Parts: sequence; structure tokens; C-alpha cells
Amino acid sequence: TPALSARARALQPSLTLAIAARAKALKADGQDICSLSAGEPDFDTPAFIRQAATAALEAGHTRYGPAAGEPALRDAIAAKLSTENGIPTTARQVLVTNGGKQALYNLFQVLLEPGDELLLPAPYWLSYPEIAKLAGATVTMLPSSAAQGFRLDPAQLEAAITPASKLLVLNSPGNPTGMVLSRPELEAIAAVLRRHPQVAVVCDEIYEFLLAPGHAHHSFGAVAPDLADRVFTVNGFAKGWAMTGWRIGWLAGPQPVVAAASALQSQSTSNVCSFAQFGALAAIEAPRDCVHAMAAQFNERRSLLSAGLMAIEGSKLLPPEGAFYAFPDVSGFGLDSMTLCNRLLDEVGLAVVPGVAFGDDRCIRLSCAASPATIEDGLERLQRFLAAL
Ligand code: PLP
Repeated sequence: TPALSARARALQPSLTLAIAARAKALKADGQDICSLSAGEPDFDTPAFIRQAATAALEAGHTRYGPAAGEPALRDAIAAKLSTENGIPTTARQVLVTNGGKQALYNLFQVLLEPGDELLLPAPYWLSYPEIAKLAGATVTMLPSSAAQGFRLDPAQLEAAITPASKLLVLNSPGNPTGMVLSRPELEAIAAVLRRHPQVAVVCDEIYEFLLAPGHAHHSFGAVAPDLADRVFTVNGFAKGWAMTGWRIGWLAGPQPVVAAASALQSQSTSNVCSFAQFGALAAIEAPRDCVHAMAAQFNERRSLLSAGLMAIEGSKLLPPEGAFYAFPDVSGFGLDSMTLCNRLLDEVGLAVVPGVAFGDDRCIRLSCAASPATIEDGLERLQRFLAAL
């Protein structure tokens, strides 16, 4: 067999997908498995969205479309960003991508090169460093721990910036910690960035609608409009509208960079599935009722999971403020996170994801994108396993 490229050799396959797949395989094998590893809503895509895609398919939207996306969808995304997020955006500044993931991939490819540094607050969603490595960039971690509230400290950011720092990642609500950046925190980050014109920002807002009571989503682009020429917003339909399998997201920001990302897309994947984009169009143009109804259910489940974890002696949890994960510190039990997760799966049939995949070996990530009964079952298994250690 031919030798793999250095790029391919350096790549870590997604551990969350791997664990979810292993749990599914064990289940298919007849084993009693409880999975709190999913990174996706367990709801079906709302019917009116499915119907819009079906209608588009029947109406003949089966051919190549513009690489940057269906014009109507780009318009609708620009309108959403302008009105709902307070980021004035035109359709030419929007690229429709195969999920938020491809938006990040394309952006990193067109902005980063060897010698450039990506500034990454940790714990982080595990794909950011891999996508950065594929672009040849170096990743500078900005670590924070549960003890520091998993917050990005502006002084720490200031200290980490070098002339080679090119791009800062902000992810709020965040995966895996569930932390939500407040407006004052975003303002403090903006104040640092004003002193460093070489640093652009990408805000991953994929969990924008999933907020615990008392928390609000603020877009960095709205908080710091003076930085508009270096702020990118990534988002998608996966989490808010329960459309993970549809693979539709977007990149928005300064037009010349979005145009370069579009050119890259035209030479790699071409347009996102044409009829799927019409489902997304129906979703984004509709009132947010279905989104809020699902978010309300996630709030109940998040509370259930948080309360259960806080009741486990020896597990330390910062209650998540959004998204659908909890990231407790279980280092007191004396196992590294990978060993802990493997043993949880083997000994009590509980699938959760080791924190090491997100840059914090003290923690494990549990998802509340599961039914309340499954969450209770998972908590009981975790409790039973930890008590027996
Ligand atoms: N960003 C974060 C923080 C995520 O957790 C995920 C999915 O897990 C994505 C982006 C990718 O979403 P999509 O399915 O739209 O590619």
C-alpha cells in the first residue's frame, strides 16, 4: 500500500464519533448499553422542514447549484445574522457549507498556513486542533480548569498573543463545558484584540439556541462591530433544528475571505445537497417555535443531569449554562479519563467521552441529548461504578 501523507498520519480520528460507534455496535450485539456520548439532538427534524426538502426534491432541485449556496438561503442567513444576531451581513458575505465543520475547515484552510498560530481556549471541541493541523498551523492552547470556571481570562489571552497569532476561536455556548460567554466577557476579549490587529476571531455559535434559564447568547460580531473586518461567524442547522444528518451550516464574515472559502469549496465538495438547502431555508425563515420547544426539553434534561452529577460524591461539576453537555471533574477517583471511560463502557455499559479528547484529562463529558429515562439510567450506572472504585 502507498505511504500516507504526513498530514494524514498526524490526524486523530474523532473520538466522540468512535465512542458513539463502539456503543452502537455493542448495543447491536445485544448488550445492555446506555449512551450519554451523543453530540446530537435525539429529536427528529421538525416535519415542516422535512416536507420543504421533499417538495424541493419533487420540484426538481436535483442538479448542481451555485457552490456558495442557494441564493435564497444565503439571503435568509444574511437576514438572520443581521436581525437576530445584530451582525450586519450581506448575502455575499455568507457561504453555505456541509455543516459548521466544513465552514471551520474552509476558513482554516484559507486563513492559516505553516508558522501561523491558532489561539484555542481549552477545554475545546476536539475538531478545532485537527482542522488547524490540516492547515499546517500551530495550536496555542489557552488552558482553563474547572477551578477557574472554564472561563477565558483576557490577561491570559493577551499574554499568549504573538506576532504569529492569526486566529482566535470562541465557542459559546461551548462544547464540552457548556459555558456561555457573557457580554462583558466578550467586551473584554474585544479590548484585547483591538491591541492586536493581526488576530482574527471565529465565533462558533452552533449551540446558540441551547441556553439554560438566565443566560443569553451574544454574538461577538455584534459586541465589537468595529472589528467586523476580522470577525467570522460559524453556525449551522444541526443542533438548534435537529438536523445533524442534513449537513448544512454556514460561514459569514469579511467578503474576500468568504469568497476564498467559496473557491475552495468549489474545488472540493461543490454545493451542499441542493434539495436539503430548501429544507434549511424553510427552517430559518420560520418562527423559532420548534427550536425553543426542543431547547426547553434540553433545559429539563440538563438540569436533571447536572443535579445527578452534583449529587455524586467526589465529582465536581460547574453547572453548564448552555449546549447539551456536562463536563464534571472526576479526577478525584484516580483514573485518567480514557481508562475511566473504557471501564465505564466495559463494566457498567455506560458510554461517555473522555475529557482528554477535549484537552482536559480530569473530566469526562456526558451528553443530555437523551431521554430523561436514559439520563437517569446513565447517572445510576456512573454512581454505581464510582462507588465501587
Ligand atoms: N462546532 C461545535 C462546537 C460542535 O460541537 C459541532 C458538532 O458537534 C460542530 C461545530 C459541527 O457541527 P455540524 O454538524 O454543523 O458540522
